[in-house]
Amino acid sequence: MIKRPFICLTKPRIQYELMGAKAEKPKEIPVPKTVTLLLDSPMTRKDTLAKPGDSVKTGQKIMISENAGAYVISSATGKITGIAPYYGDYGKSFTAVTIAVSKNEEMDGAFAAVKEAVSMGALSNYLSFSPGSPNFECFSNSENPIKTIVIYGGNTDLLIATNQYIIHARMEDIIQGIDVLKKATGVEKVVIAVPRDLIPGFGHTGAEAKGVDIAYPSAMPKVIMEKVLHMPVPAGKTCEDLGVTFMSAEAVASLGKAFTSGHIPVEKILTLVEKDGTKNLVSARMGTPVGDILKAFKVTLQEKDRLIVGGPLTGSCIYSEDHPVTPDMDSIMVQDAADVSLVSDYPCVNCGECVKICPAKIQVHMLVRLLEAGLYQQAVDEYDLNCCIDCGLCSFVCVSKIPVFQYIKLAKYELDRINAAEATK
Ligand code: SF4
Ligand code: SF4
Repeated sequence: MIKRPFICLTKPRIQYELMGAKAEKPKEIPVPKTVTLLLDSPMTRKDTLAKPGDSVKTGQKIMISENAGAYVISSATGKITGIAPYYGDYGKSFTAVTIAVSKNEEMDGAFAAVKEAVSMGALSNYLSFSPGSPNFECFSNSENPIKTIVIYGGNTDLLIATNQYIIHARMEDIIQGIDVLKKATGVEKVVIAVPRDLIPGFGHTGAEAKGVDIAYPSAMPKVIMEKVLHMPVPAGKTCEDLGVTFMSAEAVASLGKAFTSGHIPVEKILTLVEKDGTKNLVSARMGTPVGDILKAFKVTLQEKDRLIVGGPLTGSCIYSEDHPVTPDMDSIMVQDAADVSLVSDYPCVNCGECVKICPAKIQVHMLVRLLEAGLYQQAVDEYDLNCCIDCGLCSFVCVSKIPVFQYIKLAKYELDRINAAEATK
């Protein structure tokens, strides 16, 4: 929702929408015939740990290599039918593990055997692939120990109701998850940040409740760091560098549920936004093809319609209905071809709209010139690329329809890749 002030002398105010007090139950998508799980590691010829023909149970850990350490959790019972390379945004490499689902479901018991002793090992060895995609790597960095865990009870982009639903409907799981996190990590300070109007009722969670403004992009981690925790993150640093890590409400609820039930959760909650803006909450097994969700809501795609994973300002397009539901996929937006705002090759006309709206006060009109020329390091040194908080507002307001945010994401991805390659030399 955009509120433009009278005669437009100040920035437009874009707000997150709050869900009503009554949380509607998500529609359950039937277990599909095949699930595809994306393992966050490229495959090599030496990776032979799991192979086609292997039987798997629901909740079973699947690894292709002991060395890489990366794993997925099978969201169904069946037989592995394929293990193949998979390429995501900007060519990022994954390994796709495809499973033909059997009718009779069997639950794997390995996690139940370790869940009695809450430990970091149990979390990182079994729960990294849980719905909400919890990140445990930061807890093993002894140089920057984590001192605060922030649970955000909303979504960072607009139109997405996933985490608001979780805090409405699964508070018991969240309370249990907070307890698990405290015991496993030893971190005492846990903050639950929720849209300001929802603060009443969060006093009994074992976490300190803090209110977040509903103006976009107040829910971005770096904005919460500055405005709520009063710990501004310097350019080029991360929240983790300052001893703070963020987890979604769904990730924390997944941990709680895993330890109370003894089973690793395999159902992902997500928001389907239809072409007319209708929002639907969905519960689907991870690995379900996006096409199955569209079919359940009778959504059909016409030529040039767009499928976006993530919200309208920061999401990315996907190009196949076979794309699977992943642990971090909080929404799918279907955009009608007529509403697609096409990028152009018009040059920047120096209107200054992007500079006016940028919350990080970046000279975006200058930054974009360097990014278009591929001068990424110069963009960091001269125009504060590292101060960007990835809100996407610059692209949204650009009158020349320059894909500024996509240039920014590509530049950051390339710089990370170059720095990682140099670190391994
Ligand atoms: S995405 Fe654009 S508007 Fe947002 S902080 Fe970065 S440069 Fe500024
Ligand atoms: S909004 Fe677009 S056209 Fe206007 S100054 Fe920024 S980049 Fe240039």
